[in-house]
Amino acid sequence: MTVDFHELEQAAATLDEADPLHAYRSLFHGADDPGSDVVSYLDGNSLGRPTISATEAIAAAVAQWSGRLIRGWDEQWMDLPLTIGNRLGAVVLGAEAGQTTIGDSTTVLLYKLARGALAMRPARTEIVLDTDNFPTDRYVLEGIADELGLDLRWITVDPSSGVGLEAAREAISEHTALVVLSHVAYRSGFLADAEAITRCAHDAGALVLWDLCHSAGSVPIELDSWNVDFAVGCTYKYLNGGPGSPAFAYVAAEHLDSFRQPIQGWMGRRDPFEMGPGFVPADGIRRVVSGTPAILGMIAVQSTIDLIDRAGVRAVRAKSVQLTGYLIDLTRTLLPEVRIASPLDAERRGGHITLDHPAFRDVTPRLWARGVIPDFRAPQGLRLGPSPLSTSFAEALVGIRAIAEELGR
Ligand SMILES: *Cc1c(COP(=O)(O)O)cnc(C)c1O
Repeated sequence: MTVDFHELEQAAATLDEADPLHAYRSLFHGADDPGSDVVSYLDGNSLGRPTISATEAIAAAVAQWSGRLIRGWDEQWMDLPLTIGNRLGAVVLGAEAGQTTIGDSTTVLLYKLARGALAMRPARTEIVLDTDNFPTDRYVLEGIADELGLDLRWITVDPSSGVGLEAAREAISEHTALVVLSHVAYRSGFLADAEAITRCAHDAGALVLWDLCHSAGSVPIELDSWNVDFAVGCTYKYLNGGPGSPAFAYVAAEHLDSFRQPIQGWMGRRDPFEMGPGFVPADGIRRVVSGTPAILGMIAVQSTIDLIDRAGVRAVRAKSVQLTGYLIDLTRTLLPEVRIASPLDAERRGGHITLDHPAFRDVTPRLWARGVIPDFRAPQGLRLGPSPLSTSFAEALVGIRAIAEELGR
């Protein structure tokens, strides 16, 4: 096979010129930095690049810490998890104010929300989940099932696909207390029909908890209009909050009065500074908070929410679909021996794809050494997660070309 790389480069340049979001790339650190050793960053779904505005926002937060000291809590920090939560809800989650808060890790929030949800269905005995959900989701639910004596009803999925409506319908029954699934599958990128599965769960009298880690910031989400009960997600992936930035939790307004989470800390109590006897949950979403929130960790997220607000979620999704489609086309042209272990139908595909080949375990460190950064998912998957606001088509081409070279083509 002869491939005209010059022609491919021209085509990538044309796509970048026509891309209405191309200018956003310059708002990120490192994207076009000649001093960076990274020539193709394809792991925006694991750790997004930092925005330049985040540097300024973090510096301002440190200045506020230095100048306001303890007064900062009263003046701003106490409300920040809810303020950023509301912004995230409005711009990214399709959630009215008062239902979203930032804090803890996704793992911890999954535990808190799942336990709280299960307490609302005490007579039911099953949690529905799937075999290819992210490990933490499976482990947390295994622990809760042990703790409460509940049964796990596993949906067995093909790792190159995901949980379809039919499979969900078969698993959900009058015994189901809670359904916990990922909106976008971390491995294949399969985009679940969250609205239809939520309806199906509700028809059976069950509650749903969606994990939005791989969809928030890349795929349109309408939690309120889909009638979702609970949701959690990361902020360090497409929301570029930085390593270990705290996660978000959504509890639908209709559940807030009855919702009780298991880690009753002082920050989730009514009037925390009264330090009174006994736990009385705070009103509203604040009751999801347990201890002192990680203020510095949540600052950078705001910068990306602003960028998404400006760009528009639809434009972000359009670029994301175009990028994954482009990676698929390039894979077919340059890597014909590689299997595409992700949905080919853009309607059912989130923001990343996985390629499958037995050589990828060995190839990945060689790619990293040359500044081409996808990630490896056992047993033999190479996951490519372009970030719609910061990845260019030219960068995607550099990545696939390097993979082809490493496979000896
Ligand atoms: C990334 C990811 C997580 C990560 O959880 P942490 O508590 O932040 O480590 C959880 N679930 C899914 C689906 C993810 O993609």
